Amino acid sequence: MTRQDFHVHTTFSDGKNSMEEMVRAAVVLGMDRIGFSDHSHTSFDLSYCMKKENYPAYLQEGRMLREKYREQIQILLGIEQDYYSDVTPEGVDYVIGAVHYLHLGDEYVEIDWGTDIIKKACEKYFNGDIYALTACYFDTVSKVVEKTSCDLIAHFDLISLYIEKDPLFDRNDPRYIRAWKQALDRLLAYGIPFEINTGAVSRGYRTFPYPDRPMIDYIKDRGGRLLLSSDSHRTDMLMYGFGAYEHLL
Ligand SMILES: [Zn+2]
Ligand SMILES: [Zn+2]
Repeated sequence: MTRQDFHVHTTFSDGKNSMEEMVRAAVVLGMDRIGFSDHSHTSFDLSYCMKKENYPAYLQEGRMLREKYREQIQILLGIEQDYYSDVTPEGVDYVIGAVHYLHLGDEYVEIDWGTDIIKKACEKYFNGDIYALTACYFDTVSKVVEKTSCDLIAHFDLISLYIEKDPLFDRNDPRYIRAWKQALDRLLAYGIPFEINTGAVSRGYRTFPYPDRPMIDYIKDRGGRLLLSSDSHRTDMLMYGFGAYEHLL
């Protein structure tokens, strides 16, 4: 198997290490290829997205490192394009499409920023019906390719990030299952791969990567493709768990 990882963050967004530190760590790991995918800019959340003015430097740094390390590793430059990003990704090799928020009323509700935020939004916008919220999430995800023109679909069921620590819903509920199946049916038509994303495992939130096993099986049964990615925010998370989850591909 090619030793590669396409979902990697750096200090250009919310990663802890610089791009060059990540490249060096990848070389030490003997990786064949590394792809950077920092968070695209959004107008409403500057806490972890890339600053608009830093985008040219992001591209420049990536290209510089690609030359500098060309004998040792292949470097690709991508972007994790949020559904609600207000910039078009230009000059990158690939785009990872991701939904990190729900646009409800006049606010953007973070779905990976703690269960309290989700609970509050559920009360406010869905009369406490969590399955209406999860249906809204999957409906948004189902449109991520048309919205972002991505080449890879990020953490398909990010909404279940906290499911093992603070279960907000039952993953076996028919309404939950119907919502994700509808989204997968729509996304599978594009023929682009879905991530098996180990980021929530490496950070101790989940014991199984995204997406859940029934989703992986559903994707595979319908001829869909999957790709391992670490969603690394630190050098020691590169290719996290790839050996353990390779059999899922
Ligand atoms: Zn993400
Ligand atoms: Zn990410």
